[in-house]
Amino acid sequence: MSELHDVVIIGSGPAGYTAAIYSARANLKPVLFQGMQPGGQLTITTDVENFPGYPDGILGPEMMEDLRKQAERFGTDIRFDEVVEVDFSKRPFTIKSQFGEVQAQAVIISTGATAKLIGLESETRLMGHGVSACATCDAAFFPDKEVVVVGGGDSAMEEANYLTRFASKVTVVHRREGFRASKIMIDRAKANPKIEWALNNVVEDIHAGEDGKVNSVTLKSTTDDSTQMFECEGLFVAIGHSPNTKIFEDKVELDGKGYVVVTPGGTQTSVEGVFACGDVMDATYRQAVTAAGTGCMAAIDSERWLEEQDH
Ligand code: NAP
Repeated sequence: MSELHDVVIIGSGPAGYTAAIYSARANLKPVLFQGMQPGGQLTITTDVENFPGYPDGILGPEMMEDLRKQAERFGTDIRFDEVVEVDFSKRPFTIKSQFGEVQAQAVIISTGATAKLIGLESETRLMGHGVSACATCDAAFFPDKEVVVVGGGDSAMEEANYLTRFASKVTVVHRREGFRASKIMIDRAKANPKIEWALNNVVEDIHAGEDGKVNSVTLKSTTDDSTQMFECEGLFVAIGHSPNTKIFEDKVELDGKGYVVVTPGGTQTSVEGVFACGDVMDATYRQAVTAAGTGCMAAIDSERWLEEQDH
């Protein structure tokens, strides 16, 4: 017989840890599965300057460590273990992980999303040293610098525009002539005098100087395969995000892009007793603070739901 818990939280970003803090303070003794990247996406950023309450900024990994400690302080059982399968077809729900199996009256899904990357070795190596997947997080580190944005969707247009508040020049590198972005976003970017275009190109490699920071990229033409060195001090990858919902396919309703569908303004999924928060259900805002906010909502929603079940 596997252990039975009131609340099991799957995922350890700002959403999961906030849900844990609230559930633990409601004396529900939550179990939180951290997954393979404890702390989530914030552990691959450097300074976080936009989370309220840190006037001097804080390092992403440090903030996640603080959230983990805060969740633990109130009694969250945090497990360095990855959930591999769930059964939401009957209650209590069953959650299978690499190292065991538990049962839960309520489940909170907070597995986040992963920024899509180009797939270059240099991209991973230089992440946080000039390569970023989040302009909102990192644009301010590029004052008066020349940067490149990769992508041709709304995210790329939005990030390029945002970056022009800081950077002296932003070059959008896109693999074809046509865009996936909406007309209004393209028009806005095209009207911005600081934005230049390298269409029909892909980034083939990213180079760093002796200081270990990005100083150029190799662009490869998609029309004739020719290559050129292109100087820049930052590269922003904006080619979309994928929600981490593989294990929830056919278990809860997902939208066309794989995000967990929740009740408007709430966190209830298509399965009663299963809640979702953070980037796994939010393709729009994707911020640490909004993830934390929905984490709080999921904890309150699950607590109320458990009460209604005469728990
Ligand atoms: P997206 O619409 O899927 O666009 C991704 C872009 O990246 C495409 O132009 C694609 O090129 C390119 N791309 C994909 N893989 C690539 C690769 N390996 N190498 C080079 N380029 C690659 O993603 P998104 O821009 O993140 O937008 C996601 C959703 O959020 C959309 O529905 C969007 O409307 C919405 N959104 C809205 C706003 C807003 O309204 N303010 C802002 C951001 C996002 P191809 O076109 O050639 O496939």
